[in-house]
Amino acid sequence: MSDHPNDLVARLRAIFRTGRTKPLSWRTEQLQCLRALLTENGRELAAALHGDLSKSEQESMSTEVDFVVREIDHTLERLADWLRPEAAPVPDWLAGAQARTQYDPLGVVLVISPWNYPVQLLLAPVAGALAAGNAVVAKPSELAPATSAVLARLLRKYLDTEAIAVVEGGVPETTALLAQRFDHIFYTGNGRVGRVVMRAAAEYLTPVTLELGGKSPAFVDTGVDLAVVAERLIAGKFLNAGQTCVAPDYVLTDPATARALEPLLAAALEARYGEDPAASPVYGRIVNERHFDRLAALLDSGRTVIGGEYDRASRYLAPTVLADVAPDSPVMQEEIFGPILPIVKVAGLDEAIAFVNDRARPLALYAFSQSEETRRRLSSETSSGGLGLGLPLAHLAVSDLPFGGVGESGMGSYHGRYSIETFSHRKAILEVPMG
Ligand code: NAD
Repeated sequence: MSDHPNDLVARLRAIFRTGRTKPLSWRTEQLQCLRALLTENGRELAAALHGDLSKSEQESMSTEVDFVVREIDHTLERLADWLRPEAAPVPDWLAGAQARTQYDPLGVVLVISPWNYPVQLLLAPVAGALAAGNAVVAKPSELAPATSAVLARLLRKYLDTEAIAVVEGGVPETTALLAQRFDHIFYTGNGRVGRVVMRAAAEYLTPVTLELGGKSPAFVDTGVDLAVVAERLIAGKFLNAGQTCVAPDYVLTDPATARALEPLLAAALEARYGEDPAASPVYGRIVNERHFDRLAALLDSGRTVIGGEYDRASRYLAPTVLADVAPDSPVMQEEIFGPILPIVKVAGLDEAIAFVNDRARPLALYAFSQSEETRRRLSSETSSGGLGLGLPLAHLAVSDLPFGGVGESGMGSYHGRYSIETFSHRKAILEVPMG
């Protein structure tokens, strides 16, 4: 367990070379073990998540434990199909030859995950890497220490420890891992560290998947039921106290809609978290004091519609809506990643599209509109990792959709068969008869 990273990777590579991880039987067995880890230890994982992030048990089960179980079930049902070699037509001068593609596992894969969904964001990529037949080093986030400890113990108990290792720790441990040669690095977290990961990977020409963040806008059109919009925005934004990579970061709408939306957002917040969200069992806390202080400094960025209260000792920051927020205000400079929802006014759709396109390409773009033409224009005239029309966050839970960013929000994708694409090499094979 306490191998030097060099020895650890050499040991995993030696196991990979024996062919142990390649058969479908090994892959499905490991996925079933991972499934059992989740279903047999849901309460313990939820307790750790509560310790790290004050997540309610129900939220932990739906967004972390059951989420990964569903992803595994989806994969187990289809894996044999996905892995089937695919025949390709050959040109006339090769008549009689056979061409096909085959998915080869890459080798030893490093998965580095963040603290905000520490179970889902470690185990969903690990499941994909195993399904593709790789040996894996899993690196949970040190900023969710209770969950990291439980995951490390359970992964060692349930999975094939000769092919799957867990390394706990922070910057020094991750830096030591990144000095090794891997066959793929899958990183989820912020863009600053994403650059560190990519630089380290370049040393060995190791391919990377970077699942990053960014400011995901939510455009609200005229003529929509604003009570429904408010309810859906609140549900997506304040889940996990806003610490969700695909949370709507800010609202973009015209001045009249902004005014009409304000009381409805306040009402929707109260309906979800009660008059005093500090007492709500389903409202989370900020992960640590550094993030708390960063967020508290953003509260003066606009007129407070609701919220604004905080308590540093318990890292409580009330769900907050800010109106009349200027594009150059502090809250609009970087991904908020916390429970503050700014409303920024634009004249209409043209200005909203320009606003989005003037900024880094977001992980998600959301829009609420009855107009097919508006939805079509947003889809064709903007670029984002995903586009959620009518409901924030949910696209991430569709296993048949690729999940990932573009530009500053990341590169590559995963979930379902896209994890097989990410963690395999699609090898071209041509067989020409000998005579
Ligand atoms: P974090 O601080 O937990 O860091 C992520 C990982 O990077 C950790 O395992 C950590 O040990 C490692 N790390 C940190 N500094 C390092 C360094 N200098 N060198 C090597 N490794 C290092 O998480 P975070 O970055 O605060 O996560 C929040 C960010 O992640 C947000 O921007 C959010 O949008 C993004 N995010 C993206 C997704 C996605 O799926 N696209 C999901 C969740 C979070």
